[in-house]
Amino acid sequence: MIRDITLPAFDKLLAQLISAPSVSSASSVWDQSNCKVIALLADWFGQLGFSVEIMDVPDNPGKQNLIATMGQGAGGLVLSGHTDTVPFDQAKWSSDPFSLNYRDDRFYGLGSCDMKGFFPVILSAVSDFSGAEFKQPLIVIATADEESSMSGAQALAEAGRPKARCAVIGEPTSLRPIRMHKGMMMERIHLQGRSGHSSNPALGKNALDCMVEVLVELTAFRRELQSQYQNSSFEIDVPTMNFGHIHGGDNPNRICGACELQFDLRPLPGMDIDSLRNSISKRVKPIAQKHQIEIVIEHLFGGVPAFETPANSQFVKACERLSGQPADAVAFATEAPYLQKLGMETIVMGPGSIDQAHQPDEFLAIDQIKPAVNILKGLIQQYCIEDVPAVPNDNEGIL
Ligand SMILES: [Zn+2]
Repeated sequence: MIRDITLPAFDKLLAQLISAPSVSSASSVWDQSNCKVIALLADWFGQLGFSVEIMDVPDNPGKQNLIATMGQGAGGLVLSGHTDTVPFDQAKWSSDPFSLNYRDDRFYGLGSCDMKGFFPVILSAVSDFSGAEFKQPLIVIATADEESSMSGAQALAEAGRPKARCAVIGEPTSLRPIRMHKGMMMERIHLQGRSGHSSNPALGKNALDCMVEVLVELTAFRRELQSQYQNSSFEIDVPTMNFGHIHGGDNPNRICGACELQFDLRPLPGMDIDSLRNSISKRVKPIAQKHQIEIVIEHLFGGVPAFETPANSQFVKACERLSGQPADAVAFATEAPYLQKLGMETIVMGPGSIDQAHQPDEFLAIDQIKPAVNILKGLIQQYCIEDVPAVPNDNEGIL
């Protein structure tokens, strides 16, 4: 049961979260622990009567996930947010990024919309259920490192937790339910040949000559993927492959000894990351063999799968009704595929606009907060207090 206690007001809670720095980054110069944010959330949810569990992220010192649970059962609702922020450019901020600043009906601060602001929204929604019986669990998840490696969500998926019927990830979507996003992979191809005097090609093995053919092959693969896969829900309705970095050789009169390409690939739902990697490898390895050049293909990070919850899912319909907006697709990747893997119908929907995320003067507009609290209250009522039937139906009277 939710305890009848009064937590500090929304802005006081958000201010504390904003002043607990939790930048995550692949660069160790920027990377920070998220433990302070986790400790604040553990305290608040604990005070409300949730059973609170803090889990260290394996092989990632200083990084923690939080699972806070109210009630029991096989159904229920997960509300999930990440605790980390991206790095920031202090000189471009008009106020201190770590101090909540309220002006022009907006809360300014690093992570205000992406996405520390989601947690006080949850706390406000939950407080309204003090004394109520939960027939199914409400589980709040706070993850580490979403902005860098997604290691927090991956650790949870590997642990097989949490389990519930449905999940909302409160990334900033201006409260529009998002049921699809593309995946993301970043790959590196390194070709190692041998340098030598350019006057005689036989004196070396030219990695750049080989890379030209690799690029032609990848371009052909991209064309094939784009003719095979289309999804009109996305603004860019085909999978994309961007050649983003190439480096090789040193001098016009030396045979190019080594060449490296880095590219990203953004698959549509229905495309599998592992099979894409296999195809790439099958296509480019024979080229390197022909040139007698060593080839290394690596992932720059583990990759995020594409994600899709069916349009006719009962949960999608419930989120559409409560938000008053039709479900949509977005271009950015989230932790949704990891929650979906655990068997939950998953939606990305939260306060604030993605336009303000990862920007100087990031803010959360105050007019997003009340509607966000109301949507969460509606979902908690339906999925935890009333425990809707597991069989999907289109009964408009459910709410
Ligand atoms: Zn985010």
